[in-house]
Amino acid sequence: MTETDVQERPLRQSAKKAERFDVLIVGAGISGVGGAYHLKHQCPGTSYVVLESQTSYGGTWITHRYPGIRSDSDLYTFGYRFKPWVGAPIASAAEILRYMGEVIEENDLAPHIRYQQKILSARWSSKDNLWTIEAVRTDTGETMRYEANFLWMCQGYFRHSEGYTPEWEGTDSFKGRIVHPQNWPEDLEYKGKNVIVIGSGATAATLVPAIAGDCAHVTLLQRSPTFFITGRNANDLANTLRELKIDETWIHEIVRRKVLFDQEAFTRRCIAEPEKVTADLLGAVRAFLGKDYDIETHFTPSYRPWRQRIAFIPDGDLFKGISSGKASVVTDEIERFTEKGILLKSGTTLEADIIVTATGFNLNVLGDIAFEIDGRPLDFSETVTYRGMMFTGVPNMAWVFGYFRASWTLRSDLVADFVCRLLNHMKAKGAKRVVPVLRPEDKDMPLLPWMDSENFNPGYLMRGMHLLPKRGDKPEWRHSQDYWSEKDELPAIDLDDKAFLYG
Ligand SMILES: Cc1cc2nc3c(=O)[nH]c(=O)nc-3n(C[C@H](O)[C@H](O)[C@H](O)COP(=O)(O)OP(=O)(O)OC[C@H]3O[C@@H](n4cnc5c(N)ncnc54)[C@H](O)[C@@H]3O)c2cc1C
Repeated sequence: MTETDVQERPLRQSAKKAERFDVLIVGAGISGVGGAYHLKHQCPGTSYVVLESQTSYGGTWITHRYPGIRSDSDLYTFGYRFKPWVGAPIASAAEILRYMGEVIEENDLAPHIRYQQKILSARWSSKDNLWTIEAVRTDTGETMRYEANFLWMCQGYFRHSEGYTPEWEGTDSFKGRIVHPQNWPEDLEYKGKNVIVIGSGATAATLVPAIAGDCAHVTLLQRSPTFFITGRNANDLANTLRELKIDETWIHEIVRRKVLFDQEAFTRRCIAEPEKVTADLLGAVRAFLGKDYDIETHFTPSYRPWRQRIAFIPDGDLFKGISSGKASVVTDEIERFTEKGILLKSGTTLEADIIVTATGFNLNVLGDIAFEIDGRPLDFSETVTYRGMMFTGVPNMAWVFGYFRASWTLRSDLVADFVCRLLNHMKAKGAKRVVPVLRPEDKDMPLLPWMDSENFNPGYLMRGMHLLPKRGDKPEWRHSQDYWSEKDELPAIDLDDKAFLYG
């Protein structure tokens, strides 16, 4: 049964009484599994359950099954703070899943995770200080009911059931197959075929070299270029420390610090001297593609580096595919699909047997769950974010949204520390409820869209900004994307600040 079926099919009511937990975690991706780990270790005695709509843990890393699927950040920082990463920095989805599986096994988290349960609604009652959660079992259609004092939203940022595909004229007339990487068909036979991959982000850049060897030819078709950074898929410091027989726990911590130190320096450079950084990045691409290649058209973005995530290309594999002639890049706009391929605005036609639309995600605000507070539907766009972790007027709920420019998990670990500290604080105070509220000094604060598009502007965010909470102009009411300030600020939050109303 698919997620779409679940939404369309009438629910089979369960006579079972609601099960009650202290905390309910939504999603068993990197954030939800991390949340379960932190709860277990930082809040012993707290009862919890993790509900996941898919058949297993992993989130992003089981949803995406296209050839070559891999991380684009290093696993020393994408890995959890508490579990050493011992492989090459850039990892395949299979390696990430193995790592997460070890976290689950080593900490006995499996009994707390329930799979194939898609949460449809969550209703808060101030009278009972409880969330009532309704989920549907995706295998049987049965409705499951839970009650929880605290909801920990680890649902990620995109809708897992379906990726984003723009509407193009003529797609019905195309005689070949159109595929979105988020729903990669197991039976897709691309050997010896001509393939067009539409897109310019990390997914397209991963997919093209992964299939180029097997295809007759792969064309990466992009409207505009993206920045890439190349390097070896190895960490010299980690390798040296291993030769010195240093303990893996130490290696993990030392290499994390070094990676973060280098990233901070790079981010600073991007802001201080964007032209020089651009020249360096393009110089690295030119080293692979040669002086006659048209880097200006195909690899020189119009935006400043770091406004969008810079994808890492390990060992320059995308560029090697292009220099070998097995892959090529076309920078143009789509006029329409035709029977045989794509007609471009320039008048050129690209022929293909398969067209892959690596065109991004549909933003998923809080798991597509219908929320209610004391009988009133909750519209998140009417709330203000508390440091990108909680929302004004929404009791007992924390939200995990990681970093765009640094590894997601750095923030999911920090948010987990905050949630555990908050839960322990509530327990110590005997409070059953905490709700972020604007303080008297915040009353006239200007409210702005959640993210400053001058700062970060990927398509899925721009398309969904109107659905997201608002931000203010003070640190408490902003969703910072800066790990280097948050690593000190979040642990120092005063939980008795007037921004938290306890009950
Ligand atoms: C191809 C790809 C590569 C990426 N590479 C990197 C990278 O290298 N570095 C980086 O930092 N980030 C990367 N990201 C971003 C990535 O999504 C996050 O880093 C991270 O994996 C997100 O973890 P998560 O647990 O927060 O969310 P997800 O992985 O999205 O997991 C959320 C889980 O919640 C479940 N869920 C959602 N709604 C409900 C509901 N209503 N009921 C029940 N379950 C629900 C989903 O089924 C899913 O399993 C990448 C993203 C993609 C798509």
